[in-house]
Amino acid sequence: MKHLMSGNEAIARGAYEAGVTVGAGYPGTPSTEILENLAKYKPEVYCEWSPNEKVAFEVAAGASIAGARSIVTMKHVGLNVAADPLMTLSYISVEGGFVACVADDPGMHSSQNEQDTRNYARFAKVPLFEPSDSQEAKDFLKLAMEISERYKTPAILRSTTRVSHSRSLVSWEDRKATQKKIGLVKDPPRFVPIPVWGRPMRERLEERLGLLRKEAEASDANRIEWRDRSLGIVTASIAYQYVREVWPEASVLKLGFSYPFPDALIREFASGVERVLVVEELDDILEQHIRSLGIACRGSEYVPGIMELSVDRLRATRAKLEGREPPKEELPMFYDELPPRPPVLCPGCPHRGVFYALGKHDVVVTGDIGCYSLGAFKPLDRMDTILCMGGGVSMAHGMEKAGEPKKVVGVVGDSTFFHSGITGLLDIAYNGGSSTIIVLDNRTTAMTGHQDHPGTGRTLQGEVTRAISIENIGRACGIERVSVINPYDLESTQEAISEEMSSDESSLIVSRAPCPLRERRRVGAVRKIDSEECKGCKLCLKLACPAIELQGDMPQINEIFCAGCGVCEQVCPAEAIASEEAGK
Ligand code: SF4
Ligand code: SF4
Repeated sequence: MKHLMSGNEAIARGAYEAGVTVGAGYPGTPSTEILENLAKYKPEVYCEWSPNEKVAFEVAAGASIAGARSIVTMKHVGLNVAADPLMTLSYISVEGGFVACVADDPGMHSSQNEQDTRNYARFAKVPLFEPSDSQEAKDFLKLAMEISERYKTPAILRSTTRVSHSRSLVSWEDRKATQKKIGLVKDPPRFVPIPVWGRPMRERLEERLGLLRKEAEASDANRIEWRDRSLGIVTASIAYQYVREVWPEASVLKLGFSYPFPDALIREFASGVERVLVVEELDDILEQHIRSLGIACRGSEYVPGIMELSVDRLRATRAKLEGREPPKEELPMFYDELPPRPPVLCPGCPHRGVFYALGKHDVVVTGDIGCYSLGAFKPLDRMDTILCMGGGVSMAHGMEKAGEPKKVVGVVGDSTFFHSGITGLLDIAYNGGSSTIIVLDNRTTAMTGHQDHPGTGRTLQGEVTRAISIENIGRACGIERVSVINPYDLESTQEAISEEMSSDESSLIVSRAPCPLRERRRVGAVRKIDSEECKGCKLCLKLACPAIELQGDMPQINEIFCAGCGVCEQVCPAEAIASEEAGK
């Protein structure tokens, strides 16, 4: 029987069938559902959200070195965080199979950049697997696990948004019984990369790459599909599906075990076709390598190297190659008729009050990665920079030390604070900084779909656990001015922020209120605007609450959307906003 599964569900199923017993990760779109689905195979599989990707990677690496099959999951930028252990795990080698499942986001649907994880495979000299549908997502996870264990190497399974989130049919198999006995077999020359043992590891790494190349050349995951030989296309991942639609008649070399490059197979393919075209999403990694083999090919001058590929974009590529006028991109008919909708914080979002209060001060705000990034948009307009996870904390300190004349405020979410904000806070305390850090604590990892984290008191697999206190961490880091505010109470929020803005000392404000979407209930009673009291000043619109709409020239509250947070009621100078219960 076949099952309709997303790529992420299929990766989780593959891990289960492969006999994985430990899975760790940090949520990040488009990878999040891999671990959420693997966690359902409890108790055979232990799964955890770790505080960040580096920790998750090391947890899975520890499990592997002890003999367990393990996976670690993350989005592409998460691998930057985990790059340190990746680069050395490839030296010290693994024992139980170890696969890093990394999901890229071409087109930056929900990411700050669109880096190509394939570069990391070459950088770390580890095998790379690239599924093009859900069946392959499952099969390649299992193949990666086998190869990892056979060659004692970490492996990377690279997915993309389209593979991770598209659904296709998948055949299931039984779970492989765990073969290995768990327990570290003491072997310092293998696991301790001090220079005297690290140098032989370095040599073994190169030998292993050679063996892996032969493995890739013989692997069923790499296949030649001979058709018309006037054009041969080398491709991988989701691009394979687009290629089959746009060039149904062409011969194709489809790579699934794509690093180390299967050179012999590439040469065989190239010698069997008249012209070679390389179709790959994002960087021109395959193309450059094929050229380095002395094979003439076309690629990045025709295939777009930025943003997501699509059938339409490749139709334009084909037209260009054939000297025809590219067809106008075929967008859905209604697409250009829709009015633009700027992204906004949800109705009742607890972050709104903080951004509104910050708007009263002429300060610089260094932001971070999370749904609160939306505070950068007008009319809130209260975030000046975003760099990376935890960057909102450390960059505030850097600006302040550079002599930024305005007070600098760093804004970070609760999950992001645990991920990588703590060390920045430590730096502020240690090096005598004076910035104010605001943790927007909505009690969840909201942007990726409400995952738990060390502050929520619950684990990925549903156990109640210790909830770590952000304010206690702040004090332990050496920050003396620590306060907790309720962001729905605008007056006290404004007071707390004003107090810290006029202080020369560093401080930590924890703005705490749960995300109403996670709670699945309104914060309070629905508000209404009394049209007779309303002066039309539009101050309430400055909150950017999607529940407040303009009807003609006057604001109205859409009672279906209103989450009853009451913030608009507090900004209205005419007292025109109230709940029905208040009798207005
Ligand atoms: S803030 Fe009050 S008075 Fe001003 S437009 Fe909104 S509801 Fe009307
Ligand atoms: S109470 Fe006001 S600010 Fe809060 S959700 Fe309703 S309309 Fe928006």
